[in-house]
Amino acid sequence: MTITYSKLLCHIDLDAIRHNYRQMKSMGGNIIAVIKSDAYGHGLIETARALVAEGAETFAVGYVHEAVQLKEAGIPGRIIALLGPVDKDDCEAMIEHDIIGFVGHFETLARLAYHSEGRPVRVSLKFDTGMSRLGFTCEDLPKLKAFLRGRPNVVPVMASSHLAVADEPERVSMTEKQAATFGEIVQDLRASGFRVEANLANSAAIMGHPGCHHDSQRAGIALYGGNPFAGTEWEHLGAELKPAMAVSAPILHVHQLDKGVSISYGHTYTAERDMTVAVVGAGYADCYSRGLSNTGFMNIGGVRCPIVGRVCMQMTAVDISALAEQGALPKTGDDVWLLGGPGEGSILPQDLADWWGTITYEVFCVLGLNRRAFLNE
Ligand SMILES: *Cc1c(COP(=O)(O)O)cnc(C)c1O
Repeated sequence: MTITYSKLLCHIDLDAIRHNYRQMKSMGGNIIAVIKSDAYGHGLIETARALVAEGAETFAVGYVHEAVQLKEAGIPGRIIALLGPVDKDDCEAMIEHDIIGFVGHFETLARLAYHSEGRPVRVSLKFDTGMSRLGFTCEDLPKLKAFLRGRPNVVPVMASSHLAVADEPERVSMTEKQAATFGEIVQDLRASGFRVEANLANSAAIMGHPGCHHDSQRAGIALYGGNPFAGTEWEHLGAELKPAMAVSAPILHVHQLDKGVSISYGHTYTAERDMTVAVVGAGYADCYSRGLSNTGFMNIGGVRCPIVGRVCMQMTAVDISALAEQGALPKTGDDVWLLGGPGEGSILPQDLADWWGTITYEVFCVLGLNRRAFLNE
C-alpha cells in the first residue's frame, strides 16, 4: 500500500542493498535477509529480487501473508514468517506454500498441528531468552520435545531467539547471557535428535557479537544501510554500510520572510532577521513527522536548511537564506531532500532519526510508504 496523494519520492538504490548484503555475508557467513514490513519500506519484491541476484537463499518477513506475496512473485528459496501463523488461513498458507513459521507457544503449535491434518509443515522454534515478548522458555523444553515427537508432520527445522540489547556495546553481558541460554537450548534439542538450524544474531550481533553467529544470521537494518551502532563506541563497525533510501519532495514556493514576521501554525517561529524561506511539499500526512517542527533540516543543493515553524499536513517551511546569499536560490518545482541528497549536506538516516526522536527503522518504514523509484535494478 502506497500513499498516492503525496509528491514525496523514495529513491531506492538496489546496488546499496546488494553491497550491504555482501558486507553482512563477509561478517556473518550465512545470511537470512530480513525483508519484513515491505523490506523496511524499501519494497518487498524489488528488494528480494535484488538479493536473489546476489545469491540470497533465505528470506524472513513478518506475517505469513507477506511470505505468500513473495512466493506468488516467484521468489525462490526458503521463506520464514517471523510472526508465525495467527489463524487458520495462515496455517493453510504455510502448508500450501511451504513457508517456515516461527512458533513460540503451545497454542500455536496445537493449532498448526490441528489444521495440518497430518500434512508436513516446517517451523522454527522460537525461544524467549530475555526479550520477554514471544517464545518458549527452557522450562518448556521437555513438554515441547514430547509434543513434537507425537506430531512428526510438524517439523522443527530451526531454533531461533532474538536479542534485546545487541546494539548497546556497554551491555555486552546481557547479550552474552542470552547467547548462553540459547546455546544450552540448541544443545538440548540436538542431543534429543532434533536437527535444527540455529539462528540468534540480528544485524548488530552479526557486526559486533561473533559468538552469536551459530548456523545462520538474520540481517535486517544493516541491509538498508542503517548502522545499529551509530552514536556508540562501536560505530566504526558499520562504516562501510551504504544508505539505500533517499527521499525527495518539491518546492511549492519561495518567498521573503521579513524580520519580526512569524510563520506556520501556532506562529512558533519568528524571523530574527530578514530571511528567505522555501515552502516544501512534505508534511506529516506524507509521514514526515510533525515532531521535526523547528528541529530538522532538509538538504537543498547540498546545503542543510533548517525547518522553521511547524510541519503541517502537506507543507513544511525551511530557511534558505544561506542559499540566497550564495546566489543559488532554488525555485518552485525544484527537488529538495528530506533524506540523503547531494554534497556535504547529505542527510544520513541516523541524522533524521535523531531530529525525529526515533530510530532509523521507523524513519525507513514510514517514509517508505510513499511512492518509490528504483535505481540500479
Ligand atoms: C526484525 C528482526 C530481525 C532483524 O533485526 P535487525 O536489527 O533489523 O537486523 C531479526 N530477527 C527477528 C526475529 C526480527 O524480528
